[in-house]
Amino acid sequence: MEISVIKTRLTLAQVLHYYHLKPDKNLRLCCPFHDDKTPSLQLYYKTHTAYCFSSNCKTHGKSMDVIDFIMNKENCTKHEALKKATEMITGEGLKAAPPADRLTTLHKIFTYFKNGVVNSQPAKAYIQKRHLNADAIDIGFNSGQFHYKQNDAAEAMQEYLNIGLLLELGVMSRFGKPAYKPFGKHCIVFALRDQEKRVVSLYFRSMSDDKSQRHFYLKDRQGLYPKYPRENTQKLIITESIIDAATIFQLHIDNVDNQITTVLALYGTNGWTDEHTTAIQALPELNEIIFFLNGDEPGVKAVQKYAPMMKSTYPKVKVSNVEVPHNEDVNSLLDSHSEEIIIHLIKERKEIEFLFSTEKSNENKKTEQAESPIFAREEVEVNTITSTPEEKENQVKTNGLDTQNPYNLKYASEAASYQIKGFKTDQMDSLKITLQIALN
Ligand SMILES: [Zn+2]
Repeated sequence: MEISVIKTRLTLAQVLHYYHLKPDKNLRLCCPFHDDKTPSLQLYYKTHTAYCFSSNCKTHGKSMDVIDFIMNKENCTKHEALKKATEMITGEGLKAAPPADRLTTLHKIFTYFKNGVVNSQPAKAYIQKRHLNADAIDIGFNSGQFHYKQNDAAEAMQEYLNIGLLLELGVMSRFGKPAYKPFGKHCIVFALRDQEKRVVSLYFRSMSDDKSQRHFYLKDRQGLYPKYPRENTQKLIITESIIDAATIFQLHIDNVDNQITTVLALYGTNGWTDEHTTAIQALPELNEIIFFLNGDEPGVKAVQKYAPMMKSTYPKVKVSNVEVPHNEDVNSLLDSHSEEIIIHLIKERKEIEFLFSTEKSNENKKTEQAESPIFAREEVEVNTITSTPEEKENQVKTNGLDTQNPYNLKYASEAASYQIKGFKTDQMDSLKITLQIALN
């Protein structure tokens, strides 16, 4: 393979992964090319280069591209490094990596869970109720029986325990064997994947609506859902939950404003991980981050927290917010609306305005606000302007007909309360309305 081809196809992240090197959240590594106690090797995902800041290093003073990195790591010639790079691209190199029991087990068990959906009426009903399609996206169901099938393999049992799929009860069964409790029993299951799209962890969603006990992640949660965004992603939609991301993924919303669009799930409003940050750093074409979190207070607050974080790290990237009707989320919108509402709401998203003020230097305040914002993270205080649904509720005093949520008009009379759910689409022939009447 030509050097130029290799350089366009082999990412620095792939090379690191091949050597099992995991950078910290600042994209630094303890340098593998010298005896390094503190991380001196800085990685640059945009240019796919690395630079060691230690003067004790043989590479010091030279920026390394992916080929240099391999040469240094393997202590080999450029010709050999190119061969190695080609292997990494074609996948032959990856096969040579040591077999990972965890990965094999997770892959097998997720396949088993996927087949479990077919045999479970309650799972099929729940998946349908959540407007998901097990034929279109990967969903599994854990009946809690998986460890019975493994009567032969003690190794498999040990791996289940290591991964956290089985929990030891600390008592003996009536057959004199240790008793186990399967993790995430009677839950539907989603796979979290690494950069090579391999299953590296699992998320279990209870089929009951007990608010305190709905979301279960295997210990040592890792990976992203539905997967790491494509490298050429231009617009990234961020949802609050896995089911919300599954909903968007299933609708094939991969093009917003004629730009390549992908979706990425947070693990709840506090579930922004280092992997989310790393994944976003690796998107050189990114020009917009679209928050599509829940229409409630935690959702609004999470946007207020994460949007400035993104804007201060990526000043050139537009950050916008989808206004979700009060107490709805991506998935629940489909309870009363057709799927066009999701596309409609994304279209109506608003760019978030950021107010930058520097309390310390009042003299410069005016000029700084007039010019494009300068991002010095320690000094600049960032405020997000959005009004919470609660604030809006206070602004609109309704009398009879409640119009504060344009997608859900409410009218209460003595005999019944009415809700009219609907929205205008671009096509004149597809106005969809649901009328809900609750008798008093
Ligand atoms: Zn070094």
